[in-house]
Amino acid sequence: MVQLLGKVIIKSTIEVKTGMRIGGPTEGLKIGGIDTPVIKDAYGKPYIPGSSLKGKLRSLTERKEGKSLDPKSGIHICQSVDEYKQCEVCKIYGVMGITSNSIPLLTRLIIRDTYLDEGSITEEMKENLEFPWTEIKTEINIDRRTGTVSRVGGLRNPERVPAGARFKDCEMIFNLYEQEDKDLLKKVFESMLWLEDDYLGGMGSRGYGKVEFKDIEIYYNKASDYETGQTELKPERKINGNWTTPAQIVEHFEEIKAKLQ
Ligand SMILES: [Zn+2]
Repeated sequence: MVQLLGKVIIKSTIEVKTGMRIGGPTEGLKIGGIDTPVIKDAYGKPYIPGSSLKGKLRSLTERKEGKSLDPKSGIHICQSVDEYKQCEVCKIYGVMGITSNSIPLLTRLIIRDTYLDEGSITEEMKENLEFPWTEIKTEINIDRRTGTVSRVGGLRNPERVPAGARFKDCEMIFNLYEQEDKDLLKKVFESMLWLEDDYLGGMGSRGYGKVEFKDIEIYYNKASDYETGQTELKPERKINGNWTTPAQIVEHFEEIKAKLQ
C-alpha cells in the first residue's frame, strides 16, 4: 500500500513580463464582443487556469525528458505500467490511457487557478488599456509573396493581459507518497525555470507570454500535522529560507529537501 507522507505547498506570484494570452470562450453574440478574448473569472478579470499552467509545465518536462508524443493528443502517454514506474512525467502530472490493478497510478501535482492582483494594474496603465484589465494588440499578417497585408484574416485583434500584471497566491500542492518523490519535486521547480525562458498561453513565437515566478514560499505539511491541526502556513514554517525564485530553489534544492522530514 502507498501511504501519503505529506503535502508540499508552494505559493508564488506570477508576474507577466510580456503581454499574455490564455484564450477564453468567444463572446460571439455579445454586441461589441472581442473575437479573441482571454479567459476571465466570474468578475470579468483575467486569471490563469491551473490546467493551463500544469499543461505547460507538463509539456516542457516531456520535451526535456525526450518523451515520444501521442500523434493525436500531442502529449506523452505511458503505454504500460512498467513504463509508468520509470516515468517522471506521469508520476508528477498524472497518467492517461492505462489502468492498473497491481499498483496505484498516482498524480503528485495539483495546481489551482491563480487570480489577478488588481493593484498590479496601475492607474497609469489603465489610461492606456482598451479594457479595465486588458489590452487589445493589433496584429497584422503580412502576405510573404506580396509583402502586403493579407486580405483574408489579415488583421487580428487579440486581447492580452498587459505586461506588468501580477497574479497572486498561485498555489501548487505536491503530494509526497514515497522518499523518491522528493527528487520529483525538484523537477517541478526545474520546469518553472524552463517556463521562464518559454511562454505561457498563446502566440509565444510572437513574443507573448513571458512570465516570472516571484516570492516563492514552500511549506511542508506532513501527515501528522493534519492529525494535530498544525497546517497553517505561518512564516516560521517556511522551508525555503531566502531562496524565492525557481533558479535559487533549484540551485539550493538539496538544502530544502533536507527539511522534508
Ligand atoms: Zn509517462
